Amino acid sequence: MSRVVLGAGNVLDVVAGRVEVADVAVEDGRIVGVGVGLDGDEVVDCAGELVVPGFIDAHTHLCLAETMRDSFGLPRSVRPLSAVPVLRTLLRLGVTTVRDAWGADSGVRMAVERGWIEGPQVFISVRQVCTTGGIGDHWAARVGSVDFFGDPAMPDPVFDGADAARAAVRRMVRAGADWIKVTVSGSMSANHGVHDVQVTAEELAALVDEARRRGQRSVMVHAHGARAAETAARAGARSIEHGTWLDEAAVAAMVEHGTWLVPTLSCTQTDPAQAPEGAAEAHRNSVRLAIEAGVPIAMGSDNPVRPHTEVLREIDHLARTDLGPAGAFRAATHDAARLLGIADDRGEIAVGKRADLVLLAGADLETAALDKRVRGVWQNGHRVR
Ligand SMILES: [Zn+2]
Repeated sequence: MSRVVLGAGNVLDVVAGRVEVADVAVEDGRIVGVGVGLDGDEVVDCAGELVVPGFIDAHTHLCLAETMRDSFGLPRSVRPLSAVPVLRTLLRLGVTTVRDAWGADSGVRMAVERGWIEGPQVFISVRQVCTTGGIGDHWAARVGSVDFFGDPAMPDPVFDGADAARAAVRRMVRAGADWIKVTVSGSMSANHGVHDVQVTAEELAALVDEARRRGQRSVMVHAHGARAAETAARAGARSIEHGTWLDEAAVAAMVEHGTWLVPTLSCTQTDPAQAPEGAAEAHRNSVRLAIEAGVPIAMGSDNPVRPHTEVLREIDHLARTDLGPAGAFRAATHDAARLLGIADDRGEIAVGKRADLVLLAGADLETAALDKRVRGVWQNGHRVR
């Protein structure tokens, strides 16, 4: 395989938060050199442009846009097939790894792995497990209806009690889940139960323990309210998703237990008028409290609450917090890789790391309209844009 050099670009060291002019040499899918005067079989002139690691979206939904629009009227195959254009869109915007926060099954992951379709590497959670009437419970969503998936690739997510919580984890793992997603509060889009704590501490502890027993898996928790987030952090959850109304006690519990926050600011900041009253301001306050306390933060867009074409706006929202632009790039690369447990493999521009790279027009770290700046994308050393 030939050696490619991205020559004389402004290379972002996301760990140090510094930009330096350097060459990046790529061979066999890996970064094999970062420095000046590197040679290669092919040199891509990157002078005056910014080279950053491939983006990692730690909270997306690849398969829901079409499915949620018409849960009953569509053939079953539409759900996984609707991921095809979504995956292509994400990859072309420089997103090279995603964690699907429910909706994608193991066939979607396999199709990318085997090269049948192009897209970021996919980690899946299958469905969001929940207690009866929680937001993963589609009996509740359509009273009197059957579970709307009716699809053995998407097993029943509902549990009540610790033993049933373990069984729900086992069903998701059997279906191929890399992560266990649980909804502990209600949903903001339905503006219903956002301050609920719908899962007991005992049930959460059972989920976390069972996930760990099954291949050291971790639990990601949908939680809008502070008490839901605090209860989940104390039970050993790996990440809190959204965390819209966190308070001091919640972030203290998260720091104590090493819990991550994936704030998905796009949910409230892109179109604040669509969010419940006060949610946009509360959400910014939550992230401020979390950053001040030292909670680690990873980027997650929660598309398709917004279209997938808007995925990079989440980096801009993060840049407007106390993270600043360099911190936002870090949250979308190295820190998201740490959350996913893959930081040894990717998430920064360093020798030995996977050659997932994005070339952006202009040398600055300005995060507004990042999508318009994408000039090139490499995944595993292959140029895909
Ligand atoms: Zn989500």
